Amino acid sequence: MADPAIRLALIRDEIARACRAARRDPAEVTLIAVSKTRSAAEIESLLDLGQRDFGESRVQEAADKWPRLRQRYPDARLHLIGRLQSNKAAEAVALFDVIHSLDRASLLDALVAAGAKAARFPACFVQVNIGEEDQKGGVAIDELPAFLDRVRASPLPLAGLMAIPPAGVEASPYFALLAELARRHDVTGLSMGMSSDYASAVMLGATVVRVGSALFDDA
Ligand SMILES: *Cc1c(COP(=O)(O)O)cnc(C)c1O
Repeated sequence: MADPAIRLALIRDEIARACRAARRDPAEVTLIAVSKTRSAAEIESLLDLGQRDFGESRVQEAADKWPRLRQRYPDARLHLIGRLQSNKAAEAVALFDVIHSLDRASLLDALVAAGAKAARFPACFVQVNIGEEDQKGGVAIDELPAFLDRVRASPLPLAGLMAIPPAGVEASPYFALLAELARRHDVTGLSMGMSSDYASAVMLGATVVRVGSALFDDA
């Protein structure tokens, strides 16, 4: 029956341990609390503990929950981690500080247009379909170089690469592959690792981990 303070401390500890093992500075790793489906009260208990980065999967849900939370915690940072439809680009630009799911040219165009209108360009991670799964979002690996060129030529700051490895298999090879792609293409940010595998993601170079259930649910 751990409370949020204990869970948060345990996860921060685990990240620090993984950093030590990989000879990395823990300050290089940002923990995103994935708060999709969580109530405003659950989110506030983490905000009160000093957690500032939060991830939501759906624009509408974030629009329902976050404007009031942001009034009370103006320095909270909101990350969109779920698939984004182009017709929600304007709303996403207004709400989110960072978008982790930029994965196609039509969405890039929509975000650029929405950003120009709002004079606000959120930093974007390019999502890579790292397991080459038909049903998953993400740029195909062989299309990544051309897509990165397009993003770099746009006014959207390129934050890095993001991936969700295939479910049910060891994630480390996919983390290592994403890290290799980032090196090859001179990208610094790596958004990878969730509740079950964030420590190995950190050892393989993650700069952002996205943790939901380990933070909000009793083990
Ligand atoms: C839900 C979600 C997470 C968090 O998953 P947990 O296993 O609950 O930590 C991370 N990334 C994405 C893209 C998600 O949709």
